[in-house]
Amino acid sequence: MFENKDNSTTSIASLGEFGLIDHLTKNFKIKQKSTVKGIGDDAAVIACNSKNEIVITTDLLLEGVHFDLSYVPLKHLGYKSVIVNLSDVYAMNAEPTQITVSIAVSNRFPVEALEELYAGITAAAKIYNVDVVGGDTTSSTTGLLISVTALGTVKKGETVYRSGAKENDLLVVTGDLGAAYLGLQVLEREKEVFKVNPNSQPDLEPYTYLVERQLKPEARKDIPNLLNELGVKPTAMIDISDGLSSEIIHICKHSKVGCNLFEDKIPLDPQVITTCEEFNLDSTTIALSGGEDYELLFTISTEDYPKIKANPHLTVIGHMTHENEGTHLISRAGTKIPLIARGWNPIKDSE
Ligand code: ADP
Ligand code: MG
Repeated sequence: MFENKDNSTTSIASLGEFGLIDHLTKNFKIKQKSTVKGIGDDAAVIACNSKNEIVITTDLLLEGVHFDLSYVPLKHLGYKSVIVNLSDVYAMNAEPTQITVSIAVSNRFPVEALEELYAGITAAAKIYNVDVVGGDTTSSTTGLLISVTALGTVKKGETVYRSGAKENDLLVVTGDLGAAYLGLQVLEREKEVFKVNPNSQPDLEPYTYLVERQLKPEARKDIPNLLNELGVKPTAMIDISDGLSSEIIHICKHSKVGCNLFEDKIPLDPQVITTCEEFNLDSTTIALSGGEDYELLFTISTEDYPKIKANPHLTVIGHMTHENEGTHLISRAGTKIPLIARGWNPIKDSE
């Protein structure tokens, strides 16, 4: 049991998720020659042989914090628990190869429920061509817990870190943003309606894209290949799990650069725009802070611009500046607004 000798403790909320990780991990020293990159990127990088490196990443999903089984089907949950890890592998410009899956379950789950969970895991492993090579199974006194670890491989010299962005590089994002967060808002609203009127049938038709992005996200498996074909190596890359704003700040912090992000360039699906109007939410705020989009955010040298120009999967949303200029959103009206790393910060939010 933790002993509070002098009655002075620091709340986790005062550090936030990112501050807590920095605080807890600051004293780890790298001792192994094979550790190319330790803590601090989307995945750790381990030297493999003269040609390849291995990347490794892990994520934990906890019932009540990351998912609500009243509207998340177990099959989708299994699928998503794999996807969120593979997204981090692609963010290193690597190809996923293996996963391990660990679960903690209570007796309230029949075997059939866990079969559903594993059907989702199996589907993701098949589609993304990864082998399930191990894991752990234990009991839980509270909710369901799923922890997936993913391994991947990348040619030496092709690995892309958060730290390589240079001043004047262009900031590029794949796909569109904000839909997954809005999907969650729609599902939460339907849950409340159902509580009051269990006979009500939700009409999710206007929100199909949003709900799909929340319940069945995909990782951008196509992007490392696409960039390879186009002959573009990003200077820095990260996946968007916490919201555009905090991912930009991660790249800026690790690369020691600033950034101007242009509000009018942020790619939004039409359903995001109409649903934001309906929910009276600002679509830019949702794209910046929503999270769970699992798109890739990367920087490229301006010389590479002609190669990606007009590609339907890629949108240039800003450019990198000198570190001293800071990280800003340039609004539609031309106002410069500092970006803040609100991110998806359950530790801070729950306080
Ligand atoms: P991501 O959002 O890409 O999954 P995180 O923000 O979760 O990345 O983690 C950032 C970095 O901190 C990663 O390198 C991760 O491995 C590391 N990390 C996170 N939590 C811990 C922990 N409790 N102990 C050691 N390293 C951690
Ligand atoms: Mg990541």
